[in-house]
Amino acid sequence: MTPETLDKPDLVLHGHFDKDHERRYAHVPFDVPAGRRQIHIRYSYNDQIDSDPTLGGGNTLDIGLFDERGIAESSAGFRGWSGSEKMEFTIDESWATPPYRKGKIRPGGWHVLLGPYKVGPRGCDWKVEIWFDPGVPSPWRGVGISRRVDPDPLPEARPGWLRGDLHCHTLYSDGDSWPPEMLSAAGAAGLDFLGVTDHNNVGHQLAYGPGGDGLPIVVPGIEVTTYGGHWNAWGTDRWWEFREPESKAVERTIRAAAESGAVVSICHPKPFGPPWEYEGVTGFHAVEVWNGPWAQQNAASLAFWESLLRRGDRRVALGGSDTHYLHGRNLGARDADRLGAPTTWVQVGDRPTAKTILEALREGRSFVSESPGGPQLYLEPDRGRAGRVSVEVRGGAGGRLELVTDTATPVVRMVDGDAWDDAFEVPAGAAYVRAQLTSARGDVRALANPVWAERL
Ligand SMILES: [Zn+2]
Repeated sequence: MTPETLDKPDLVLHGHFDKDHERRYAHVPFDVPAGRRQIHIRYSYNDQIDSDPTLGGGNTLDIGLFDERGIAESSAGFRGWSGSEKMEFTIDESWATPPYRKGKIRPGGWHVLLGPYKVGPRGCDWKVEIWFDPGVPSPWRGVGISRRVDPDPLPEARPGWLRGDLHCHTLYSDGDSWPPEMLSAAGAAGLDFLGVTDHNNVGHQLAYGPGGDGLPIVVPGIEVTTYGGHWNAWGTDRWWEFREPESKAVERTIRAAAESGAVVSICHPKPFGPPWEYEGVTGFHAVEVWNGPWAQQNAASLAFWESLLRRGDRRVALGGSDTHYLHGRNLGARDADRLGAPTTWVQVGDRPTAKTILEALREGRSFVSESPGGPQLYLEPDRGRAGRVSVEVRGGAGGRLELVTDTATPVVRMVDGDAWDDAFEVPAGAAYVRAQLTSARGDVRALANPVWAERL
């Protein structure tokens, strides 16, 4: 029995969402009889369009599943959420379609979670079909970890610094690869760590394992994906509430994640990121100022971050490639996905672990560059003299180094060699100073976190 040859379903649920239900989750109850070992769910709806935020005029319906343990916040009954990516999935006692969780099929009241992300002019008529014990065989075969490829030699970092990518997706959400493939691709790209952030699930974390031992260190994370914006949390092994797209609820969850020890970052606050719609929400550590190639609207994310800095709101800048596809798939700009574009560099000293990487991220001992090859940009208080900073640029010949403060016009120097450094007087009264390296076209090639005045 394969999903293509299923008989009539045991249960059919259906309903309708109007435009005024857009972006509000619904929990549709159904009963699971005793003695079952497998559930297969398939759904469909009219006027289906892709979840790409640039598309409108039709319907995009997300789906997830809760078992009999209930739908409450942080419930252990959350069996997974696949967005609009999978039109059917199986949960068996001994296996499940990723990102869903395998495990006991207990009798009782279960819920299909339906999220009308977009509702078109004709409304959304949906149908969910459910089979109990249809006998779908496991599609899992040994997913061979691809041969390890030694990366091309990259320019050396300063001692104690690591390079990594903080944002990627696998088959556990809307990517096209298995976690071991993603990890070995990150190794081949020359990265020392990989933040793993599938949407609204943590099932991928087990499939990755801890990394290290010749592969990049895994920094376990999740992209909490809500209808008003996305946020990443790293250093957490549980799902976080995503069903309430309201500022108050989002801030409450962000604060809870931060208090649990996670590093929290707002993702891609720029047009079509999708953007961040929760004005005034705080409690996060960082902003993903650089998501994918710089030219893809990242100047808007940088402006968002800088407006926080100017208010004295100390958030750390970091980057992530948001890689979805290792095997090529024709989805326009997303073809440009490349691990390490951009790369986030962190200072961890002589103990490279997920924990020290998280600490460096939280504290902003980091900078971002266009690729694992650099350019490298180190900004620090000048050890020799108070009121000054020193800047070292490696591999940035031909670029423009800009020193930005909240009070004066940026100071600009041309970087005339691949091993370049200089020191700068910081204008009196400046609250912070930060540095960026730009190309002749004005694209940012590297971006350093600020030094705040009290350290000068
Ligand atoms: Zn996202």
